[in-house]
Amino acid sequence: MGRSAPLAVLAGLIFVNCCSKPVISWPANDQDASDMSLPDYDQYLGEYLKPDDSLALLLDYDGTLAELTTHPNLSEMSVEMRQSLRNICNSGKAFVSVISGRDVDGVKKKIGLENVIYSGNHGLEVLYPNGTRQNQGIPKEVADNFDKMVDHLNREVVHHGSWVENKRVSLTFHFREAEQKYIPEMAARATEIIESYGYRANPAHAAVEAKPPIEWNKGLAAEFILGTSFDENWRQRKVIFAGDDTTDEDVMKMIKGTGRSFRVTKDKDLVTNADHKIPSVDAVYHLLKWIESRICG
Ligand SMILES: [Mg+2]
Repeated sequence: MGRSAPLAVLAGLIFVNCCSKPVISWPANDQDASDMSLPDYDQYLGEYLKPDDSLALLLDYDGTLAELTTHPNLSEMSVEMRQSLRNICNSGKAFVSVISGRDVDGVKKKIGLENVIYSGNHGLEVLYPNGTRQNQGIPKEVADNFDKMVDHLNREVVHHGSWVENKRVSLTFHFREAEQKYIPEMAARATEIIESYGYRANPAHAAVEAKPPIEWNKGLAAEFILGTSFDENWRQRKVIFAGDDTTDEDVMKMIKGTGRSFRVTKDKDLVTNADHKIPSVDAVYHLLKWIESRICG
C-alpha cells in the first residue's frame, strides 16, 4: 500500500444520508473488498433456485446495486450490473423490483430499465412499468402540507451550506456541509418546523429526515408489490432479495423461511435477518450473474 493509500481510505470513509442511520461508503476499488473471496452462490442458492423456476428478484439500490457516494447525484450503477439486470428482466422468467430510499422517479432514472417495478421513499411510492403509480395512504391534509414544509425549511433553515433533498413524499434536510457553529440551532429548528406540519422528524447522520406519520416499511412494500403483481399464492414463488441497510431488514424478515436474502456488509459481527452476508456491490454483481446463468441457461 503506497503512502497516499491511508488518505484514500479515509477519504472513502464518508458518511452518507440515504438511510435512516449513518452508513459508511467505501471507495469502489476498496482493497479489503477485492481481497475477500466471492460468495459461493452454488452453495447458497443451488438447491433453492432451479433453472425452470420463476423468480421474484427484489433489490435495494444505494450500497447494493451501486456504491455509496458522498452525494446521491454522484451514484452510478456499473454498465455490467445494468446489463446483467437487463438480461434477467428480459429472460421472461424473472420479475424484478427495486425498492429504494430515494424518490421513485430518482431511482428509475438511476436504473434506466423499463420492465422493472420501482418503489421509492422506502416503499411509500410504487411505479409500475405501465406508468401506474401507487402511493401508500398518506392522509390528504398531511400530503397537502408537504410543499409548505419544504418552502418553510428553505426560507428559514437552508443557509451556510445546508440543503433540502426533496423526495416528494418525504425529505431529508442535510447539514453536513454547514459550518459547525450553525448546526445545533439549524437542526433543532428544522425538527420543530417538520413536526409543526404533522411529519415525523427522524435524526440521521448530519441530517434530519421528515417522514409522513404512517406505519410503512420496505417489508410491507415488498409484500404489497408481490401481492399485487402475482396471485395470492405468490409465497410459493422463489423470492431473492439483497440490501445493505437496516431499512432492508424488514424485507429480509418478511421473506425469511420462504425466500433467500443477502445483506451487503463488511461487518462480520452484524446481526441480520438475512440468510447470508455478502461483502460488496461487486458480490451483488456476481449474484446477478449467477442468477442470469441459472435462469437464462
Ligand atoms: Mg441501500
